[in-house]
Amino acid sequence: METPKDGAKELAELHFHLGQSVEPHILWSIAHEQGIRLPSKDYWEFYELITLGKKTEISWEDYHELFKWTELIQSSPVAMERAVYEVLSGAYRANNITLLEPSFNPMLRNRGGEKDLDQIILGALRGMERGLVEFPNVRAGLILLLDRRFPIATNEIIVNKAIKYKSRGVVGIDIAGPMAPDFRYEDYTDLYKKARSAGLKTTVHTGEDGSAEEMEYVLKVLPLDRVNHGFRAYSSPALLKTISEKNLTLCLCPTSSMSVGFIKSGAHLREIIRTLYDSGVKFCINTDNPSMLKTNLSKEIELMRKHEILSESEIDQTIRWAFEATFIPTEPGKNLYL
Ligand SMILES: [Zn+2]
Repeated sequence: METPKDGAKELAELHFHLGQSVEPHILWSIAHEQGIRLPSKDYWEFYELITLGKKTEISWEDYHELFKWTELIQSSPVAMERAVYEVLSGAYRANNITLLEPSFNPMLRNRGGEKDLDQIILGALRGMERGLVEFPNVRAGLILLLDRRFPIATNEIIVNKAIKYKSRGVVGIDIAGPMAPDFRYEDYTDLYKKARSAGLKTTVHTGEDGSAEEMEYVLKVLPLDRVNHGFRAYSSPALLKTISEKNLTLCLCPTSSMSVGFIKSGAHLREIIRTLYDSGVKFCINTDNPSMLKTNLSKEIELMRKHEILSESEIDQTIRWAFEATFIPTEPGKNLYL
């Protein structure tokens, strides 16, 4: 019998959000387990609510609006345990992903302080450990997200939790969320330095909705190991040089950036990715929000073939870059943090 593993490349995924990575039928099941009153009693209406449904494009605002339901459903320790476990298990079974770093914001899952933040994070860690025991050749680590809409004091609490749970499998921090009027990257320099001196790795969402100039500034003020998206750099030779000099890896998400219209077409995607590759910039392919976008890592890599962007050996190179850019400190075969 043929399995999905036969002939499949071993893959690593470094940029995807837990909220939009759990399969809709599992979220449906978790919601019912939690007794959450959903806006519809019909599964397919729920499916339309939390995915792009029949749409292929969505506005930047509506895109973030979709996250609310998935975050609410994951707002308990038990829900987080199951969500992380199912994502790890599904990634390995369906796409032969043997290294994964799901990200989530614990503060968007504590129902405004009603739930204990430590319990939410520990739920996620338990789910990860359960998955790692069942699939011993998978490696995983969790990334905690800060949010641009939060005051810095709130984001600092998340960084402190990331440091607290480093030995259990939290491997890094990231900043995401729509741009907010009071948010300034330079306010986060010290927090990023604090996380790095505690042994965590750092990434940030930039160079997607913003400009290359903004991305250049972000790279100047934040100490970084990777960048999420960052494709806007393709228009700036100086920025491409900076990315290479800093040895950063860009974690691109083709379908995600195309669905919100930042990447206009297959030809535009080709222009971006060829420019990055030919400039010697390291990058890897990711999904961002696979369940919501109805994609997976294999499908995203397939886009490189479909639009004749990368050769097979170049695809293999981007997969190697993904493994090399991991935040997970453990060696293959030693996946637990105990
Ligand atoms: Zn993202």
